[in-house]
Amino acid sequence: MKEQIHALRQVIKDDASNVDTTEALESFRNTYLARKGKIAALFEQMKDLPKEDKPWAGKELNALRTETEDLYASLEANVGGESGDANSIDYTLPGRSYHFGHRHIVSQTIEDIKAIFKNMGFSVVTGPEIETDYYNFESLNFPPDHPARDMQDTFFVTPDIVLRTHTSPVQTRVMEQQEPPIRAIMPGKVYRNEVVTARSHMQFHQVEGLCVDTDITFADLKGTMVHFAKQYYGESLKYRFRASYFPFTEPSAEMDITCYLCAGEGCRVCKNSGWLEILGCGMVDPNVFKSSGIDPERYTGYAFGMGVERTAMLRHGITDIRLLFENDLRVNKQFY
Ligand SMILES: [Zn+2]
Repeated sequence: MKEQIHALRQVIKDDASNVDTTEALESFRNTYLARKGKIAALFEQMKDLPKEDKPWAGKELNALRTETEDLYASLEANVGGESGDANSIDYTLPGRSYHFGHRHIVSQTIEDIKAIFKNMGFSVVTGPEIETDYYNFESLNFPPDHPARDMQDTFFVTPDIVLRTHTSPVQTRVMEQQEPPIRAIMPGKVYRNEVVTARSHMQFHQVEGLCVDTDITFADLKGTMVHFAKQYYGESLKYRFRASYFPFTEPSAEMDITCYLCAGEGCRVCKNSGWLEILGCGMVDPNVFKSSGIDPERYTGYAFGMGVERTAMLRHGITDIRLLFENDLRVNKQFY
């Protein structure tokens, strides 16, 4: 009996090393562990053993059965694992798609504007959103009690500190720190104490621009603005400059392009004029040069500014500015 158990243990081990398919595994179980298997057959022979031999034989056979069951379980894990993996992958299924984030239309518009001006040699400068009255108004030729201050509804932090109402104060900061020639654009957030409607918001973005050098003329300003507009809105666009007024430029102008909706025919969006304003601009007022320490007898320059949201809305035909702040993914996903 002892020899038989020993021999069977050896056979089982040898046999197990050859099990590498589910069929071989099933045959292994049938040969050794099934009710009519070889281990069961040895248990069957126990009844013919002398009484004193039965305890150790039972113990040995139980041990062999446990070993074989463990062996079977590990074989099953190996064979089953491999074939299971192979069967569970369906190569005909479409791949999983991942959703990548992307820039918001406002950031994207700022990037697009920056890229066009960078190509013309402009650098990018930023300034603080909380400004002093001096930088936001006074240095830009808005003296105290000047009626032009009423053009912009201001959020006051203290009587002398405001949330900047435009990016123009960065002009003064740049001119204080840098000798001409200066060519810089200044993107950033601005704040106005206005009722939020489809057309206006109390927070929006502007891109300011400044060019200062000797012999800068209005022709340089027009050429630069037209180049920008054609790059951004399309080569075939029609444009016009209209005389306007800003305290910090003299003369001042606004630039219009043909209405995107009616192509100049006149519609509700362009208030039947056929034109849409895209930016304000002008020659830097000598008073602004003086407050920034630049000699207006020696230097001239131009400045311009545009609303980023307005720019994005004009280019993409968005009719409600609030859509740009609500972060509705159904809107945001449309603009890559
Ligand atoms: Zn129109």
